[in-house]
Amino acid sequence: MINIHEIYQSIQGESTLVGVPCTFVRLAGCPLRCTYCDTLQAIPFDSGKSMAIDDVVAQVSAWNNPLVLVTGGEPLAQKSCIDLLQKLLATGITVQLETSGALDISTVPVAVRKVVDIKTPGSSEEKRNRWENLQYLQAHDEIKFVLSNQADYAWAKRVIDERLQDTSATILLSPCWGALNPEDLCAWILRDKLPVRMQLQMHKVIWGAEKTGV
Ligand code: SF4
Repeated sequence: MINIHEIYQSIQGESTLVGVPCTFVRLAGCPLRCTYCDTLQAIPFDSGKSMAIDDVVAQVSAWNNPLVLVTGGEPLAQKSCIDLLQKLLATGITVQLETSGALDISTVPVAVRKVVDIKTPGSSEEKRNRWENLQYLQAHDEIKFVLSNQADYAWAKRVIDERLQDTSATILLSPCWGALNPEDLCAWILRDKLPVRMQLQMHKVIWGAEKTGV
């Protein structure tokens, strides 16, 4: 069994798979409290309903999208998430996992495409970063910084210089919606020649920042 906040289909709005039709499986519950969290409704561990993992997989299979994203909340806060990921992989659909970077990712199946946050000072959860996770990242994985201001950018640049020189994962820099001007972030990246991809949250461009389930 697993505690599910919602399952819906939309277009993947972030990551290197942006634009791909996707089934979203949002697990309930998160132990973090990021300042910019845009899924506050999924933070309580009692914000979902208990479902059999096979029923979740059946819903994902029925929609038949090429991609499934397991997200939250913090999906790895539920131990049965690993079982869900294994069963989703068995369907042959590409499986992506979005995680805060605060929990151990070593047991995530290697075929899962992981998007691992590095929490900046602006998130107020910087101390939760589990740096040991970096050793488990592969070329198909992604490291995401959400930047709230110029100080976050400078901090991220330092982390890239000091910790991510040898990573094969893609590094994403994402301006916090409504807090950091994307034009400024583009200018800083070009000025500093950072080895990153800049991304916007495409679903918010299309449907606005407040709409959920898209
Ligand atoms: S880790 Fe994600 S779900 Fe949890 S508080 Fe931070 S932004 Fe929200």
